[in-house]
Amino acid sequence: MIQVEEALLIIAENSIKMPLQKISVSKSLGYVLAETVYSPIAMPPFRQSAMDGYAFIHSERHQYDLVGSSQAGDHSNIKLKPNEAVRIFTGAFVPNDADTVVMQEHVMANDKSILITIMPEHAANVRSKGEQINQEEVVFDANTLITPAAIGFLACLGITEITVYKKPKVTILVTGNELIKPGKKLKKGKIYESNSVMLQAALQTIGIKKTKVYKVEDNLKATKKALKEILAKYDIVLVSGGISVGDYDFVKEALLENGVEELFYKINQKPGKPMFFGSKKETLIFALPGNPASSLTNFYVYVYPAIRNRMGFSETHLPKMVRKLNAAVSNSTGKTLFLKALYNETHVEVLGSQSSAMLNSFAIANSLLIIPNDIENLKKGELVTLLPIN
Ligand code: AMP
Ligand code: MG
Repeated sequence: MIQVEEALLIIAENSIKMPLQKISVSKSLGYVLAETVYSPIAMPPFRQSAMDGYAFIHSERHQYDLVGSSQAGDHSNIKLKPNEAVRIFTGAFVPNDADTVVMQEHVMANDKSILITIMPEHAANVRSKGEQINQEEVVFDANTLITPAAIGFLACLGITEITVYKKPKVTILVTGNELIKPGKKLKKGKIYESNSVMLQAALQTIGIKKTKVYKVEDNLKATKKALKEILAKYDIVLVSGGISVGDYDFVKEALLENGVEELFYKINQKPGKPMFFGSKKETLIFALPGNPASSLTNFYVYVYPAIRNRMGFSETHLPKMVRKLNAAVSNSTGKTLFLKALYNETHVEVLGSQSSAMLNSFAIANSLLIIPNDIENLKKGELVTLLPIN
């Protein structure tokens, strides 16, 4: 049995980044950039008006003759004299000599001339060329997550294709004779299968959208056969259940017989002790405990950073937070505890039900509070570390 920190280290050491792919910007949401992107143009590409109003050469003068108009999309070589102004609209090209735009609300105008009633400052309402970004400047560093705003920014620079890390193909293999699909009638001795939809949802939070689910009964032959097919196809394999020490737990044996190298088995923690981590070629296998709260805890602690690492993120772990305990906590187990908890701006409260079999408190928790294995007592008001979730 190893400690949590060792388990995290082994996973990090065995995880390599996904191969790269070129992708159209319009389809790149949720991918992570694998290259530095430079801007092919300056943005704005020319001096733009930030207002509907009038462009002129700033001076003490309040009255100007109107000599033309510049609409968004137009380009003119008009030459302004000191006593001349041009009607202009938001986003339009500001004629070369003009240095200031006055908003139309601050002007009295007729067809031929304008009178500025509130004089703007010199250079007001003119967006300078390259104000957002200059040509050849860095748009994004490698390892940046592509968000809707990032897609908009790339598109406004005319960029249509980028190089990203491929997303890993992830699958879930569910084991357990007792499991029935929600929606079907519950039979005696059976329970509803909930780990697969829970893990699928957790995967979606990292941008892994479609995850195929395989199911097997608790028997070695079927588990081996399913794993053989799965191991050839996927980059990340999550197995649910069958990894403990019961007579009907066949997952470890089936993995080893399929040529999976064991990298660790069992972690000194609660919940989530019976977990297996292994690899075969570049595929990583996480055999998670069947108990639902253990399964999800280990997803957040181990699977989440491993997948984010493969996807190219530079920050892979859930960001840690520190809060004051609102009541004393003791840990007589000698194990690292991950406790379902609720934090607010200053404090954290440990929730009631901490059983590995139960999701009731997990379902309303916003964090996992970490109590290290070598800490026995924590007093009310002491600072503790937690992982915010959801
Ligand atoms: P196992 O790890 O297979 O021994 O399962 C531990 C406990 O978790 C048992 O009570 C199982 O019934 C339950 N369990 C296992 N897999 C699932 C699942 N997919 N959905 C809900 N409960 C499960
Ligand atoms: Mg089982």
